[in-house]
Amino acid sequence: MEAILLLIFVVVLILVLILAASGKRKSFSVPRGKKIYGDMLTKGKVLKSERYLITGKPDLITRKGKLIVPYEYKSGNASEPRTGHLLQMGAYFIILGDMYPNSIIKYGILKYGNSTFRVENTHGLRNRVLAIADEIRANSGIPSRNHDNRGRCFRCPYKDVCSQNLIHYRASEDA
Ligand code: SF4
Repeated sequence: MEAILLLIFVVVLILVLILAASGKRKSFSVPRGKKIYGDMLTKGKVLKSERYLITGKPDLITRKGKLIVPYEYKSGNASEPRTGHLLQMGAYFIILGDMYPNSIIKYGILKYGNSTFRVENTHGLRNRVLAIADEIRANSGIPSRNHDNRGRCFRCPYKDVCSQNLIHYRASEDA
């Protein structure tokens, strides 16, 4: 009898461990589908909307049928998506919409160390991203660069429309 109870205990314990492991995997999961973009796959290629001159470099993009899903990982923890990261995801939606006009881009996955968020591709988000691009283009929305971080400019979706882009400055200084 004791042996049977011990066996049941071990089986239950194994099941609990398997469930815990699958739950953990889920919280770290990337979207399902074929990977069509990512560092190993596309060697750091920067994506660009030729129409809006917005650039981006998602950590991963998957495709399943017509559905395309960008995935972005951010180090650190967050209890809700940060505004800059939402705008970055919005920029990915615009770029991918330009690159794959016949595909469906409904949402993206934004992953932090302790949490994962599904970001919807809404008109509101799109309009915010485009409005900022317009403001930068007109040099009225972000009039003065408030940092000296080239890396930040390099990762910025608006670098192609921003006259204060440090990469462009250095390139022209070097010439
Ligand atoms: S390119 Fe650089 S200076 Fe211009 S908006 Fe982006 S981060 Fe700011």
